[in-house]
Amino acid sequence: MSERVETESRKLLGRLRDAMAGDDPGQARLDKITHLIADSIGTEVCSIYLFRDEETLELCATEGLNPESVHQTRMRLGEGLVGRVARRREVVNTANAPAARGFRYMPETGEEVFSSFLGVPVQRLGEALGVLVVQSKDAREYSADEIYALEVVAMVLAEMTELGAFVGEGSAMGKRHSQPVMLRGTIAQEGVAEGHIWLHEPRVVVTNPIADDPHRELERLHDSVEELRVGVDKMLALASADKEQAEVLEAYRMFANSKGWMRRMEEDIANGLSAEAAVEKEQSLARARMGQASDNYLRERLSDLDDLSNRLLRILTGQGKDTGADMPPDPILVARNIGPAELLDYGRALKGIVLEAGSVGSHAAIVARALAIPLIVHADRATLEALNGDHVLVDGEQGIVHLRPDDQVVSAFRDKMAMQAAAAERYVSIRDKPAETLCGEVISLNMNAGLMADLPSLDGSGAEGVGLFRTELQFLIRNKMPKRSELSALYARVLDAAGGKKVVFRTLDIGSDKVLPYMKPNDEPNPALGWRAIRVGLDKPGVMLMQLQALLRAANGRPLSVMFPFVAQFEEYTRAKALMDKAIERERTLGNVLPEKVEVGSMLETPSLAFAPQKFFEEVGFLSIGGNDLKQFFFAADRENERVRRRYDTLNVSFLSFIERIVERCEITDTPLSFCGEDAGRPVEALCLAAIGLRNLSMRPASVGPVKSLLRRSNLAEVRKVIADARHRGEMNVRPAIMEYLRQQG
Ligand code: PEP
Ligand code: MG
Repeated sequence: MSERVETESRKLLGRLRDAMAGDDPGQARLDKITHLIADSIGTEVCSIYLFRDEETLELCATEGLNPESVHQTRMRLGEGLVGRVARRREVVNTANAPAARGFRYMPETGEEVFSSFLGVPVQRLGEALGVLVVQSKDAREYSADEIYALEVVAMVLAEMTELGAFVGEGSAMGKRHSQPVMLRGTIAQEGVAEGHIWLHEPRVVVTNPIADDPHRELERLHDSVEELRVGVDKMLALASADKEQAEVLEAYRMFANSKGWMRRMEEDIANGLSAEAAVEKEQSLARARMGQASDNYLRERLSDLDDLSNRLLRILTGQGKDTGADMPPDPILVARNIGPAELLDYGRALKGIVLEAGSVGSHAAIVARALAIPLIVHADRATLEALNGDHVLVDGEQGIVHLRPDDQVVSAFRDKMAMQAAAAERYVSIRDKPAETLCGEVISLNMNAGLMADLPSLDGSGAEGVGLFRTELQFLIRNKMPKRSELSALYARVLDAAGGKKVVFRTLDIGSDKVLPYMKPNDEPNPALGWRAIRVGLDKPGVMLMQLQALLRAANGRPLSVMFPFVAQFEEYTRAKALMDKAIERERTLGNVLPEKVEVGSMLETPSLAFAPQKFFEEVGFLSIGGNDLKQFFFAADRENERVRRRYDTLNVSFLSFIERIVERCEITDTPLSFCGEDAGRPVEALCLAAIGLRNLSMRPASVGPVKSLLRRSNLAEVRKVIADARHRGEMNVRPAIMEYLRQQG
C-alpha cells in the first residue's frame, strides 16, 4: 500500500472524526459522513444503509441519490446488491451494477445513471449492522486500495454505531440494544427464571477508533502484543503437563506470533485506525469467517483468534473483566461459554444461564443441572444483544430467552411462573409423606446427586436418600486428578450433609461422553462402547483402589454403599468386589476405622447383565438399573444423538417386558433392585415402573414431588391391568392406554 493512500485514508478518518466531534443529532452526522466520503474518494454517490430489524435494511443517508428516498428505500436481507453485501458479509465491486447478479432497480433513488458499485459490510464483531456503498457514473471497478479505505471507514462507522453516535433527535436509528429480542436455543436444564443480565465477560468498549499518531499507536500495539505473548508463554509453561490445554495455548502462541495478523493490524494503524480499532477489525473479520466455516478445526482456530483478540483488547484498553458494575440481585448469566469451575464459583446465586456455545452434555450443563439452574445453550447472538442489567426471561421449558421483553410477554411469563410455583407448593405439602399408592404399596423415592451443591436438595425435595451419587462429576470439574485425602474429605462431607440418610456412591464412570480433562484422550471409534467406567477401573486398579479407600475412610464407622457402573458380565463384578475387599483389608491393617457395614452392588446398564448366571444375582449386594444406558443399548440408539435419542419410548412393550424380566430375576434371588435413569423422574414412566414391580426409584431432586404426587393418587393393580390389556391387544407401546386411563382418572 502506497504512502499516498495511507495519507489519504488518514485524512479521511481525520475529517470523519471532526465531523463526529460536534453534538449534531444522529441524522446530521450521517449526512455529513456520506458527504465527506464521496468527496474524499471522488465518487458521485455515497450511501449508508443500516438494519431496521434483523431482516430489513434502510437507506439512512446519501450523497448523490435522491434525498427523498432516505428512510423510504428499504430492502430485505439478501435482496439487491446491498442486501447481498449484508447477507454474505462480503464486498461487492462491479463496473456494471445493473448487469450484476442480484441487482434490483430502486426507481425512487434515481440510481439508474450510476454504473459502478462498491458495497462493503458495516459489521462489528461478526454482527452485521449495515452496508456502506459508493457509486459512480463511469463504468469502473474500484481498486484494492479504495476497497480497503472504505472498509476502514466502515469499521469506524460500526464502532460509532455501537457507541450510539447516530441516535438522537431526527435520528436515523433507534437506540441499539433497547428493543425486545427473542432468542431461541437448546434446553440443557429445564425451568423458568426472571432476572437481569449479568455478562460473564463484559465486552470491551472501544471509544477511540480513529488516531492521529500512527507511530504511537504502533508502539502501543507492539507493547501489548509483547505483553500478550509473554502471558501466553507463561500459561504454556504452567500447562505443559496438560496436553490438551497446552495444545490450545500453542495455537494461541501461533497467532500471537503470526506475521500476517500483525501486518494487517499495522496497515490498519498506518491508515488512521487506533490500535484497538485495528485489533477489532481483524476480530470482526475472523468472526464473520467463523460464522461461515463448516470445518470444525477451522472454527476452533478462529475462535482461538477471537479469544486472543479479546485478551489483547483488554490489555490495550486496560478494561478488565471487572467493570465496577454490581451483580444484580437476580442475575441471569450470559456468556459465550463457561467452564464448570467458574459456574460453581457463582453457585446458586444465579437464577438462569444463557450460553451461545455449550452443549447439553457439557460439564457446565452438568453443574447447572446439579444446581437446578435453568440453562439454555446455543442461544445465538446472546452476548451481542444482551447488556448488563437488561431485564430478561429465561424459558427453559421452551428453549427461549426473552431479552428486554414487553409487558405482554412479561405478564404471560409471570402467569406461567405462578402456575409452577403453585405446583411446587402442592409438592411441599406431601414432602414428608411416603410415596404410598392407593393400593398400599410404598415406593422408596431417592435422588440422584454428584456435587456437594446437590445435597441441600435432600431435605427440600422429600427424597429418602441419595440413590445414585455420580462420583465422576468431582473429577470432571477439576483440571487435575484429585488426591485421596481430598476425595475422602469430600465424601465425608456428603455423608455429613446426608445426616444419616443413605447415599449410594457409584465409582468413577468416565469414558464415553465423560472425558477427564487431564486424562490422555483415547481416539476410540465408538466411545460409548469403548473403554469406559468399570473397564477403566479394572485396567487401572490404582485409581479404583484410591477411590475405594477414600470412600471407606469417609464413612469413618458409618454404613457405606458403593456400586460399580457399566458392569457387563459377572466376572467384572467379582473383580471389582475383590478390589473392595482388598481396600477393606488394607484399611484394617492400617488400623483405620472401618464402616459399620459395606454394601457392594452393581449397576445394570448393559442388556447382557440381565442374562447373567443366577449366581451373580445371588452374590451381588444390590442392583440399580441405569435406564439411560440400558435403553440406549437395548434399542441401539445413541442417548447423545438428538436424531435418535427420542425415537424409542421407555413404555415400548419390548423394553417394559425386559425390565419386568429383571424384576422377576431379582425377586427369585431376593436381590434389592432400584432404577436410577432419567425415566425414574418422569411421572408416567415412574408409575409404569412401579406397576411392573420396581419399589425403589432414584431421580433428579425436582422430580421427587411430581412423581410422588402421581403415585399417591394411583392404584398400581389397575395400572398393571391397563398394561396387560394393551399387551394383550398387541399394542407396541402402552403409553396411549396409560394416558387414556390417567385422563379418565382426572
Ligand atoms: C444411566 O445410565 O441410566 C445412569 C444413571 O448413569 P449415567 O446417566 O450417569 O450414565
Ligand atoms: Mg450410565
